[in-house]
Amino acid sequence: MAKSIQVEQGDITTYQVDAIVNAANTTLMGGGGVDGAIHRAAGPALYAACEQFHGCPTGEARITPGFKLPAKYIIHTPGPIWRGGQNGEPELLVASYCNSLKLAEHYHCRTVAFPSISTGVYAFPVERAAQIAIKTIREFLANSHWVQQVIMVAFDPATKAAYQKALLT
Ligand code: ADP
Repeated sequence: MAKSIQVEQGDITTYQVDAIVNAANTTLMGGGGVDGAIHRAAGPALYAACEQFHGCPTGEARITPGFKLPAKYIIHTPGPIWRGGQNGEPELLVASYCNSLKLAEHYHCRTVAFPSISTGVYAFPVERAAQIAIKTIREFLANSHWVQQVIMVAFDPATKAAYQKALLT
């Protein structure tokens, strides 16, 4: 199978892939946005599994089973909160994508779906986030063994357009 990056609009909780990524917060104990949707869909066992981690620093990643989700695994990564861009936000966003993909590779995942990390409540500008995401995923795929297909799942048309544009550059 050839390696690929795809951009789609949809609800990431419905994706039957090896791993979906959760744009978590550093407590890993659930929140709003995609995090809340994933916890609702996966069921209370996810909360119990996340409790064991005692949180996760921004830019790192942790893995749990998918529980009631169609995905086999959930990779949880707290992306950076945008504070103007001079506080390491771009590097931390690279780290979130990179560390999530490393975990996916370690767990022999072939297909991985990402939401648009940090561009919701965390207010990272979506065009810039999309360029960082696509570049980081591309570089990772060039050397991955297991990870073959990465799907960027946008929740709204503007987000989808930003990632489609980044894919063309
Ligand atoms: P962050 O705190 O990292 O900014 P958010 O969950 O607030 O995370 O937003 C990240 C992105 O996820 C936003 O573009 C938001 O619209 C999107 N999103 C929310 N729910 C879902 C979902 N069910 N599937 C995919 N993306 C979602």
